Amino acid sequence: MKLLQKLYDICFPLPEVCPVCLKKQERLQVCDTCRAEALRRRSLYGQCQRCHSFGVQGTGCSSCRQWPAYLVGNLAVWPYQDGWQQVILDFKFRNMPWLAAALAAELAPVLPAEIDLIVPVPLHKNRLRERGYNQSALLAKELSEKSGIAWQDCLMRVRDTPHQTGLSRSQRLKNLEHAFALRPGQAVASKRIVLVDDVFTTGSTLLQCAQELHRHGAVEICGLTLASGQISF
Ligand SMILES: [Zn+2]
Ligand SMILES: [Zn+2]
Repeated sequence: MKLLQKLYDICFPLPEVCPVCLKKQERLQVCDTCRAEALRRRSLYGQCQRCHSFGVQGTGCSSCRQWPAYLVGNLAVWPYQDGWQQVILDFKFRNMPWLAAALAAELAPVLPAEIDLIVPVPLHKNRLRERGYNQSALLAKELSEKSGIAWQDCLMRVRDTPHQTGLSRSQRLKNLEHAFALRPGQAVASKRIVLVDDVFTTGSTLLQCAQELHRHGAVEICGLTLASGQISF
């Protein structure tokens, strides 16, 4: 299998660029300039201390004000705009699963230390069939390899809900009601869990997934996303 992988890598080498600004690098990796620029925008716009929405000062914005205590927060490293938005759309919709390792490398430094399990936000099986992969599961797997913390694809999306784009926060919450369930045979009781997703927008997906995990005994849940939106000027 390793030999096959090596042959594949020789035949299909990854582009040696920064996936955000596309400047040449030694290998496929986010460059220092893009990292520094994300930090600059964080200090420029502010970031909610609880859910990491960009463009928010302090704690408890409209996306996280009504969170239960077991949902301790969300961590997001990029603003959902410009090259960062582009690379996430490429990763998610344009058949570029090979971006997973380079993107997970940006999440790894902020992964909380005190956790037991990494869980990806699931896709409905119809969507998975269309896309061929679940981008959040690829991130979770890479993060597990980098950190040594176990990952488990333990949630499933039981309702094929309409796209969330363009819906308000309350419409999104309604749209996602009972959309997620713990897979049969999975156990999350007493576990501290990091839920991985690509983008945090209104927080409704994270909230619904966390509710389901908590219902089965998970004690502490934190979101981890590449980017967060909500920037308004
Ligand atoms: Zn760059
Ligand atoms: Zn917030």
